[in-house]
Amino acid sequence: SLVKPALELRNLSAWYGESRALYDVSLDVKPGGVVSLLGRNGAGKTTIVKSIMGLMNRREGSVRFENRETIGLSPRKIALLGIGLVPEERGIFGTLTVQENLMLPPVVRDGGMTLERIFDLFPNVRARLTAAGNALSGGEQQMLAIARILRTGARAILLDEPTEGLAPVIVQQIRKTIESMKEMGFTILLVEQNFDFAARVSDAFVVIENGRVVDRLEGPLGSAEIESVRRFLSV
Ligand code: ATP
Repeated sequence: SLVKPALELRNLSAWYGESRALYDVSLDVKPGGVVSLLGRNGAGKTTIVKSIMGLMNRREGSVRFENRETIGLSPRKIALLGIGLVPEERGIFGTLTVQENLMLPPVVRDGGMTLERIFDLFPNVRARLTAAGNALSGGEQQMLAIARILRTGARAILLDEPTEGLAPVIVQQIRKTIESMKEMGFTILLVEQNFDFAARVSDAFVVIENGRVVDRLEGPLGSAEIESVRRFLSV
């Protein structure tokens, strides 16, 4: 393809102490593209997004964002380049209000989304401005977590299991949010257990097993591909 990827992983390996968790993972996310990492529990999906963010104490290979190498940079420097991680545990401040959470993004760089745009994207967040983080529903917490990362000015967003534990109607709202973010031009790497959800929002899929890439698929998927991925994930 002629389009240079926004996010380019080449032979990325990572370790927890002495224990190797990733083996030469290579993948691309095009500017404005949505790629899903699929795989069973413990496959290494979370480790990939943590490695991109610089959160593993040992990683090797190459992770380039908009042509800049990030291996060797701290998580803060990586965030300042324009990558944001919405972690599985969401990372919001439970005892602070929604408004305070929005005023305290993990980093601040140019181009952070204004509160007005945040409220357009997440009307529920506006409605809950004075509530404490830990008084929110799971879906509201997820939306606040995404909103805080959009406040940082990140252009590439790593979403770790955004739909986990949420009711189907809330999962639909998260889907609309991701579609809006895509329309706004954000580059998105998604970790998902919910394959039906991932299949609807993604342009491409990378299947992970034992810390390795074992398959790659371009969307939209045909029914035979959907069946074979579903069978693989449920074994
Ligand atoms: P899940 O959906 O369960 O989070 P995952 O695909 O995201 O699955 P990872 O969390 O990336 O998987 O885990 C990959 C491997 O790394 C697993 O074998 C796991 O046991 C191991 N691992 C994860 N976190 C740590 C840690 N802090 N210390 C040591 N090993 C870890």
